[in-house]
Amino acid sequence: MSGNGEGPGKKPDTRIVQAGRRKEWTAGIVNPPVWRASTILFDNIAAMRAADHAGDGVLDYGRFGTPTQWSLAEALTELEPGAAGTRLFSSGVAAISVALLSVLKPGDELLIVDSAYGPTRRFCQKILARQGIRITYYDPLIGSGIEQLIGENTRAILLESPGSLTFEVQDIPAICAVAKARGITTLLDNSWATPIFFPAIAAGVDLTILACTKYIAGHSDLMLGSVTAAPDHWDALSETSLALGQYVGPDDAWLAARGLRTLGVRLRQHQASALQIASWLAEQPQVGRVLHPAFPNCPGHEFWARDFSGSSGLFSFELKGGDDAARSRLIEGLTNFGIGYSWGGFESLVLPVDPNRGRTVAKREQEGPMVRLNIGLEDPDDLIADLERGLASYKS
Ligand SMILES: *Cc1c(COP(=O)(O)O)cnc(C)c1O
Repeated sequence: MSGNGEGPGKKPDTRIVQAGRRKEWTAGIVNPPVWRASTILFDNIAAMRAADHAGDGVLDYGRFGTPTQWSLAEALTELEPGAAGTRLFSSGVAAISVALLSVLKPGDELLIVDSAYGPTRRFCQKILARQGIRITYYDPLIGSGIEQLIGENTRAILLESPGSLTFEVQDIPAICAVAKARGITTLLDNSWATPIFFPAIAAGVDLTILACTKYIAGHSDLMLGSVTAAPDHWDALSETSLALGQYVGPDDAWLAARGLRTLGVRLRQHQASALQIASWLAEQPQVGRVLHPAFPNCPGHEFWARDFSGSSGLFSFELKGGDDAARSRLIEGLTNFGIGYSWGGFESLVLPVDPNRGRTVAKREQEGPMVRLNIGLEDPDDLIADLERGLASYKS
């Protein structure tokens, strides 16, 4: 199956605009409309039986989707050269959970990067461990050294690059090469780069996961996740997702598709503004390390430079000295940054972060309290002026 966004030679920006918009699903309407359904009526029993679990593209029952969801899923597939298909989920965490369940069974071992998103870790500890699946954490900079961790029962490796909060970039191709040679499945949380800056399936990843809540939706007004699979992993992902009753409402799928069409221009602006602000921060006397994959001192920067075609708008920095109370005063004094979870929307956000709390094998030294910024689409000069005022009053 393919929409009109596929085809040799089309660049990502063109695919973003055209992908998933099949005429039979849109009747020519530019932005694929909202098709709401639970019951689908059939002309006769034969037609009903023919539709039974026929797959995406055939109306069967609401839980299996309508053109609204199929169109978004197909668009995300078309952004990943080499992918077989995409399943949508009610959140990024739901996407990660089902992707892992589609691969693992009791007795297996999962290797998971120590810099993974906190709730991903929680799912592994709370749900997978209870199923008798062994969870082993590894250092984000392990690269092909992951070979040493692989045992008889190792079934899957979960990657997240760059890592949550601290932004270490992993050597994804090296890890995937080791995994392929040993018949182990690789899963990547690619929410930060999106397929625009890092097409993961082409790089050898088996299952690539997006918190579409972030950059795909882009407007902080919905929750959604996706998993896009390489051909060998598509059937298991599909079966697991359908068996677990996973479903996304058409209104959220429609909003996400609307957000997707501007992903290219949004990402370029997020990238430019974040680089400007991060470079400015790195010069300030109150600021220690800036943790941004495009900066040479970011752990794994060389892999970002080799594998990624851009950087997005989320990064962290360390303050030099000071404590939690001083950090809170700094954050609460900012007027152009909202205090709140999530990222990838048009509005700038700021959060106090304490990455070492959740880690086991890759704890890091810090010069002082850490702050994470989501750089939105405001004028970067206004954001810098705000940070300048905040840092001027920062006391250690
Ligand atoms: C936010 C986030 C998720 C989870 O997405 P939700 O839609 O909030 O469930 C997964 N991975 C990363 C890296 C995230 O930042």
